[in-house]
Amino acid sequence: MNHTAPRRLFVTTALPYANGNFHIGHIMEYIQADTWVRFQRMQGHEVHFVGADDAHGAPIMIAAEKAGITPQQFVANIAAGRKPYLDGFHIAFDNWHSTDGPENHQLAQDIYRALKANGLITTKTIEQFFDPEKQMFLPDRFIKGTCPKCNAKDQYGDSCESCGAVYAPTELKDPYSALSGATPVMKQSEHHFFALSDPRCAEFLQTWTHADGHLQPEVLNKIKEWFAKDAEGNGGLGDWDISRDAPYFGIEIPDAPGKYFYVWLDAPIGYLASLKNYFDKGGPKAACGETRSYDEFVADPATEQYHFIGKDITYFHTLFWPAMLHFSGRKTPNAVFVHGFLTVNNGEKMSKSRGTGLDPLKYLSLGMNPEWLRYYIAAKLNGKNEDVDFNSADFMARVNADLVGKFINIASRSAGFISKRFGGQLGAMSADGQALVATLAAEGTAIAACYDSRDYARALREVMLLADKVNAYVDQNKPWELAKKEGMDARLQDVCTTCLQAFRLLSLYLKPVLPALVARVEGFLAVTPMTFADAAATLAAGHVIGNYEHLMQRVDIKQLDALFEAPAQAEQATAATDTKAASKQKANPAAAQPATASADGQPGGEALAPTIGIDDFAKVDLRIAKIVNCEAVEGSTKLLRLTLDVGETDETGQPKTRNVFSGIASMYQPEQLVGLLTVMVANLAPRKMKFGISEGMVLAASHGDEKANPGIFVLTPWPGATPGMRIH
Ligand SMILES: [Zn+2]
Repeated sequence: MNHTAPRRLFVTTALPYANGNFHIGHIMEYIQADTWVRFQRMQGHEVHFVGADDAHGAPIMIAAEKAGITPQQFVANIAAGRKPYLDGFHIAFDNWHSTDGPENHQLAQDIYRALKANGLITTKTIEQFFDPEKQMFLPDRFIKGTCPKCNAKDQYGDSCESCGAVYAPTELKDPYSALSGATPVMKQSEHHFFALSDPRCAEFLQTWTHADGHLQPEVLNKIKEWFAKDAEGNGGLGDWDISRDAPYFGIEIPDAPGKYFYVWLDAPIGYLASLKNYFDKGGPKAACGETRSYDEFVADPATEQYHFIGKDITYFHTLFWPAMLHFSGRKTPNAVFVHGFLTVNNGEKMSKSRGTGLDPLKYLSLGMNPEWLRYYIAAKLNGKNEDVDFNSADFMARVNADLVGKFINIASRSAGFISKRFGGQLGAMSADGQALVATLAAEGTAIAACYDSRDYARALREVMLLADKVNAYVDQNKPWELAKKEGMDARLQDVCTTCLQAFRLLSLYLKPVLPALVARVEGFLAVTPMTFADAAATLAAGHVIGNYEHLMQRVDIKQLDALFEAPAQAEQATAATDTKAASKQKANPAAAQPATASADGQPGGEALAPTIGIDDFAKVDLRIAKIVNCEAVEGSTKLLRLTLDVGETDETGQPKTRNVFSGIASMYQPEQLVGLLTVMVANLAPRKMKFGISEGMVLAASHGDEKANPGIFVLTPWPGATPGMRIH
């Protein structure tokens, strides 16, 4: 544990490209960084944790044009969809910004000017494919043609998907523009380069990359290959083309009309821009009393800067980025932490450009606990640049057997006795209990060291070994048997107190990974938010705890089945919870249709109903309902029969469900709705229908003119809602 003065840390994750929603690979990185940030704060350090959308570049410009909106509007739409993911998984960035923000324009131009003044910007005329119809230079990915090796048609300008050959776009046979179909012509243009081949850069980067703690050993080994030159002196660090010609969505290069920074030049500068934006808004002052300006903060040699990134962008972050910072007179990162990719059930790689398999929003909408995923991912991350696999069976085993079976059970087997038998008062611990709790407390420093080195897998292993010890103590002392014996009250209170003291320590150790759960634990134990310094203390005899409520459910295999079941229609149902911009990305035309006003200007194709008072609205009791079953109705093409859990129980205390018919069969397969949460009118008088009695109504949206705007869309609540909650 650290008893020195608080450190001041500036932490980032890689900026996601703003052409689509987050996928599970992003969420893994954010969980890794968020856990580390929470841990550092529990050490008493001040941390500023910022992110931003990577907004620039040709792919976004082209996608926006296709969508008929400006690139600014396009990225704003994407940004608007970020919150449910971040909130849903308890990922607490202090600030979220955009690389198109004014701070980034200013900082990118400042850094460029400084590099230029240092003699590190050169220009060179290069020849590239140009689309004569679109009047623009074509990025490699927007040139297609016939593979020069195997003659496969319609291959990209950089590689062949048929035979795997890699080539230059100029080698393609019969090249054409993927934007217009026109035959591209070769055209010359002057490009700006960052002179990474300058001996000063090589010398600086050799020192920086080898310095202790900057890079993981396995990352450094990779980088050594990039420095290496062959016998003829070829290879090594090459100059970096940092300019693109108009039209381009990006930041203008000073004194170079029609030239823009290549998106990768200004993307990492977005880290600084988001931090500056946060400081300018007074965030750090409000959060921790930081009175300095952004400029003062980043100039302070004691400020520490850390970047979490995926392995695919190592080159940019370990070579270009430190060199740009250093030669523009800025501080360089204290470390770049590289992680591997996430695969799902040994399946598809979750790289930046692909993202299927485990849909994070679907996970949340199925009512799956976000902290199950945080725990599981943390249990797989060891701080090395290694790939991680999400395995369904392993996920269920770790959550159910370890997290619930070993950890939560300690509280559920002891808290009730303290409440019922001792008025919530803890007692004193006898020697065996004290020894057990001391064993747990002694591991605090080692567990903290694991978190600090991002070896969460080891931290959680250690915590579970300690939980085993506590469970052995419980099994040995059997509080449920003590409770039945005469004259054993004092021992019962002693044993249960020991269990709760131990549970408090285990909760403290798990807090960086399970922030929401441990906040509830702190509430029930009636303690202030715990830090690692609290590991040495115990709760005093006589301390009164609150009532224990069950802290965590087990994973139900049906949830995992539903999570990975992906019929075409389910994709569409999920899209309804995504942002509008995201649905534009998807091929499904029904989901992509914008909610337009009809010709007569009425919203959604129908006039608003007459105004009502709040009393009228209060008469309608809307509740969150879980669709526990759904089936087709024989004899009806329109109706589905839904079995809904609205959190009700019958007179014997058994869960009670409702039968509701809904006219949504045209849009949904029964199986894709099972497990989803929706909204129902819960106090509608039961209605006898041809197929049975309907005990309520499920809410769904449709256009007034169903012929012109077909489709009916079931509502799904924001993650966190549970069956029975009323909608106010
Ligand atoms: Zn080929």
